[in-house]
Amino acid sequence: MKRLLPELIVISILTGLVLVLISQYASIPATERTEQVMGTYATITILDRDSDRAQRALDAAFDEIRRIEALMSAYNASSEVAALTRNGTNWTALSPDTLYVLTKADYYARISSGSFDVTCNPLVTLWMETVQTESRLPTPDEVEAAKALVGYEQLLIDEAHGRARFAQPGMSITLGGIAKGYAVDRACDQLLAAGIEHALVNIGGDMRAIGDKNGAPWAIALQNPRNKDEYLTILELEDEAVATSGDYERYFILKERIHHIINPKTGYSADECISVTVIAERCIDADALSTTVFVLGPEAGMALLDAYWYHGLIISADKELITSTSFAEPLVLRPL
Ligand code: ADP
Ligand code: MG
Repeated sequence: MKRLLPELIVISILTGLVLVLISQYASIPATERTEQVMGTYATITILDRDSDRAQRALDAAFDEIRRIEALMSAYNASSEVAALTRNGTNWTALSPDTLYVLTKADYYARISSGSFDVTCNPLVTLWMETVQTESRLPTPDEVEAAKALVGYEQLLIDEAHGRARFAQPGMSITLGGIAKGYAVDRACDQLLAAGIEHALVNIGGDMRAIGDKNGAPWAIALQNPRNKDEYLTILELEDEAVATSGDYERYFILKERIHHIINPKTGYSADECISVTVIAERCIDADALSTTVFVLGPEAGMALLDAYWYHGLIISADKELITSTSFAEPLVLRPL
């Protein structure tokens, strides 16, 4: 008995510690807020014992998302994106945020030989406006005319002077394929600066997790794009980001399925994928890559992800599931 006593004490201390840890985790309350922003909904969930701190962190994160939106929205006349369009071939002074996003966009344009191209705005606008307001497809001539205004190499970025301009008049950009991811990252920076250690930031399906959720990863159900009541798999996120590009969130069906992701090389909407999900450390990369791979198509797209060791899942137009090595589990459709 005497010899057992120290062991018993150690065991009971350890058990007590484990119980304290479990109860600490179990009792972390969640603070959540949803707001309409960047043309979609943003939800931020924070696990923190100090609810005042959580509220302050939420305020700071949403302020930051709105600041990014004000800089990068194409619909806001006072945004830097609108200023670029107005100034055309004249230089536009840019904030460090917009410069950073343009530089990242340029990187993804280069590694995809222009499949990702923020200067594709004339094509995006042509398709959306003709289909939405005139209920018809653009003519081949209209597509060619818009295509002539597209080319990432004609967006000149002068990092040293913090400015950018176009090489020819009539060009414009859309940051719709990258700005949400950047806003998620900036929101996370605000949360981290406020001392938050467990959170999930979600802007329209582009998400990033800070830490874990009560001792387990944040579980994200990946929806079956053709049946919202089913999921393909559960993604487990911990200090990682995920973004999905799909042909099913914003689309029109005239004779064919027309959606908002354009292949700048053809001038028509990209048609080789139904959806692309990419996991990366930062959401800006996941966001830009999901759009890039969607345009590249399953084969070239997965080759790109594998070359850079990104994790991804592609559903091809013929409904084949193609996964990078990180999705080792067989994927089976399950009811939600
Ligand atoms: P969602 O906005 O639905 O999450 P994406 O992240 O894939 O989907 O972004 C789609 C947006 O990206 C389009 O609305 C458009 O603004 C922009 N976009 C479309 N095609 C391209 C492209 N080839 N390269 C870069 N951006 C694109
Ligand atoms: Mg994207």
